[in-house]
Amino acid sequence: MGPSIKELLYESVQYLKANGVENSILDAQLILCHVLNKDRLYLTVHGHEALNGDMVTQCRQLLRQRAQGMPVQYMTGLQEFMSLPFKVTQDVLIPRADTEVLVEYVLKQYQDSDNARPLLGMDIGTGSGCIAVSLAYYIKDITVWAVDISGEALAVAKENAALNDVGDNVRFIHQDILQGIPEVRHERLLDVIISNPPYIPTGVIDTLQTEVRDYEPHHALDGGADGFRFYPAIIRQAARYLKPGGLLALEVGHDQSGDIANLIKKSGRYERIEIVKDLAGINRGICARKMHN
Ligand code: GLN
Repeated sequence: MGPSIKELLYESVQYLKANGVENSILDAQLILCHVLNKDRLYLTVHGHEALNGDMVTQCRQLLRQRAQGMPVQYMTGLQEFMSLPFKVTQDVLIPRADTEVLVEYVLKQYQDSDNARPLLGMDIGTGSGCIAVSLAYYIKDITVWAVDISGEALAVAKENAALNDVGDNVRFIHQDILQGIPEVRHERLLDVIISNPPYIPTGVIDTLQTEVRDYEPHHALDGGADGFRFYPAIIRQAARYLKPGGLLALEVGHDQSGDIANLIKKSGRYERIEIVKDLAGINRGICARKMHN
């Protein structure tokens, strides 16, 4: 007889801990849940159930990969964001709780407000589509354009729009933002543009934790030598694509908010610049309104 769920869980937590994995308990639980195809409650309620050899082997294999640094989300293929399920593959960044703060800021501007409907939004560098899909899910009467340079990422984003039943409200555009978004010319101006662009300086990527450095797509992280590769283009394009009063919402690196706020000010096209803090109190987002002139 193989070990019980409880025994394997205990062994797994010890193993992950010994290998320096931070969230050893949660990660061990998620790996077991994935292999057993059950939720976390099941592990507690059925702790004495014996596991078959195949399952134990599978768990141990995934635990080894986790110990080597692979994020558990790339094993289970899932991450929750804004209380919605998102599929993830190694073609996309794992959605972060920090980004939720920016999305919540944008939602607040449009929930129960008397903005003219329908709304048109854009998510630049959509990756998994977590931002675009959340806006489409929580804001009434909005269409969101999800833009990405990676076709592989857009395929994941498309699945996530379907998974969350907003396939009709998200439109996918395969485009490099540095080249602009020609499609906008044929449509009306946008109400909101949001982006969590790659902003990590190239030289810093090698110093990041293994989970990020060795498993997440570098083109989704790498913001060029100084980390500012994408912001000037986004700020410039957004000034052309947003309607007067339209909202620009950008996620920024932990030490970039001052510089980005200056870039936005210096462009002379925006007003009402606001900083949004993340859960750790770090300046994580910058929002501004397109001027009316
Ligand atoms: N928009 C996605 C996210 O916030 C992807 C961002 C990126 O790849 N830089 O997670």
